[in-house]
Amino acid sequence: MMFGFNPAPKPTSRRNKLTTKMRGRIKPEVYQGAMERSGGLCERCGKYGSHEYQTLQCAHLIRRWKIEGETTVNDVAMLCGPSVNTGTCHNWIDYTAEGKAWAEEYRQQLYEKAKE
Ligand SMILES: [Zn+2]
Repeated sequence: MMFGFNPAPKPTSRRNKLTTKMRGRIKPEVYQGAMERSGGLCERCGKYGSHEYQTLQCAHLIRRWKIEGETTVNDVAMLCGPSVNTGTCHNWIDYTAEGKAWAEEYRQQLYEKAKE
């Protein structure tokens, strides 16, 4: 007796949600947009990086997993870094409650402006 090749059906429910990593990805045009908005200065303290580190980083204003679609220019800000160094704005928004609150508020402002 012959049996046809009968592979197990492939699962049809493909993941259609973006992974946290995909959502958190900062596309070149997003980075460019944030850079133009900031004018090359830290969007919080207005310096080009901190005096010691001279680094400007594209920082997420919101936890990556909270982003619904992809990261847009309104989800990020150019901040002085590096984020691992205390005293920089990037470190401040990533590791302090005060900084996180500022970041969320700043993000709201950016979205408000984008609506106009
Ligand atoms: Zn700064």
